[in-house]
Amino acid sequence: MVRVRFAPSPTGALHIGGVRTALYNYLFARQQGGTFILRIEDTDQGRYVPGAEDYIIEALRWVGLLPDEGVGFGGPDGPYRQSDRKEIYQKHAHELVERGHAYYAFDTPEALDARRQAEEHFTYNHLTRNGLSNSLVLGETESKRRIEAGEPFVVRLKVQPGRSIHIQDLIRGDVVFESSELDDKVLLKADGMPTYHLANIVDDHLMRITHVIRGEEWLPSTAHHVLLYEGFGWDATMPRFSHLPLIMKPVGNGKLSKRDGAKFGIPVFPLSWKGETAEDSFEGFREAGFLPEAVINFLALLGWHPGGDEDVFSLEQLIQLFSIEHIGKGGARFDYEKAKSFNQKYIHAMDNEALAKLVRPLAEAKGYQVSDEYLSKAVSLMKERVTFLPDFVQTGYYFFEPVREYDEEALQKRWNGDIALVFAELTKKMAIFEPFKAVELEEAVKVFIQEKGVKPGEILPLLRIALVGTMKGPAVFETAEVLGREETIARLNALMLKCNV
Ligand code: GLU
Repeated sequence: MVRVRFAPSPTGALHIGGVRTALYNYLFARQQGGTFILRIEDTDQGRYVPGAEDYIIEALRWVGLLPDEGVGFGGPDGPYRQSDRKEIYQKHAHELVERGHAYYAFDTPEALDARRQAEEHFTYNHLTRNGLSNSLVLGETESKRRIEAGEPFVVRLKVQPGRSIHIQDLIRGDVVFESSELDDKVLLKADGMPTYHLANIVDDHLMRITHVIRGEEWLPSTAHHVLLYEGFGWDATMPRFSHLPLIMKPVGNGKLSKRDGAKFGIPVFPLSWKGETAEDSFEGFREAGFLPEAVINFLALLGWHPGGDEDVFSLEQLIQLFSIEHIGKGGARFDYEKAKSFNQKYIHAMDNEALAKLVRPLAEAKGYQVSDEYLSKAVSLMKERVTFLPDFVQTGYYFFEPVREYDEEALQKRWNGDIALVFAELTKKMAIFEPFKAVELEEAVKVFIQEKGVKPGEILPLLRIALVGTMKGPAVFETAEVLGREETIARLNALMLKCNV
């Protein structure tokens, strides 16, 4: 039975790369009929940021990646928040010492700092540990005495030198680390809290995780993790590892960072986040006006592709097609233009009523009050020309209020005395034309134009400018029908008034 987990640390807003990690875990679980778990790794109290946990859960809800078990979702293996599992880690840390794979260390932070000052490359490892203050040197009795006397201590992993540690990564194949190069990582800190390494391995074991799918930055830690599994005697049930490729900047080299958001003026977080400073506050994909389906499609292809030319996939299709083998090793470029084009496609393909529901709060925020029916119609005319949801009420403001400004250049080119007369006559005709419907209107206007001996190109652009102010608006007669007779005639009159007719 496949069991995977998404295990973010609540150290701030969840980066979009974290959402991709969650997505790949989710897709794999769903495809395999497995379980997707949300575990909050909050043992680093110094980096804990209030609100970050709620943000993670809200982001997962927004994109529709609901965990089967986890913080906020319950389940049989809880608690799923690491700060609620302190005793479990403490017990395991002591157990690992008893098993001979870890030891107590009493070195004070000052003593270690002094060592680091003196030796540039000082590392606590198999070469140095015999000259330091730990239970390997002091012996069991003295160590126990110190612990019972309340002396602060940490527990460190005892890494044995001279071994090649092989990891069979499902994406990267055989990855080898030399144990002689590894340090004796702290597992339990002096405040009784575990470090990431200990808590992560204990939980993955107790939560019966079968596959670890996480960012490439965790690959080096995996060597220590393998030693921990072995030390606990859990190697037979060690999960399979898959380390996902880095997400790279839109242009240039290097990993996508949160600063790139501001630099390129693009969102790199799923939801907006208000940090303590302006620099630590970001606009999210949601607030920028992305549909979650588009974000999912975009993220799925950041490092994975099923082969073939198709690139539009629903979540259901992704579940069918996903395979870890098709994840690339190389970094995946964060192509924001691609994200936009997905959003356009998804908006275009979306049902008008559903889209209108999403646009309604944006319209209301601007004080626009319209019926559901009207909104659906306006949305249906605009949806092939918007990229983001707010475009419906920004670019398409003219469905909700009179034209604010006219494309003067286009107007000057076309408006003249003769045309003005024809335009005035047309306005009168339209004011009484029945039925006020796009197809019939179009037919009647065409006949009228022919009778007057003018070309469609002389009149139709002016009608469009009158209704929406620009040459780029939606289909002109459909727009007139949606606006209705009264508003349409008012706009034609307004244009004539402006042009002094
Ligand atoms: N807490 C780690 C993080 O913030 C989890 C890494 C892992 O999945 O093991 O990404």
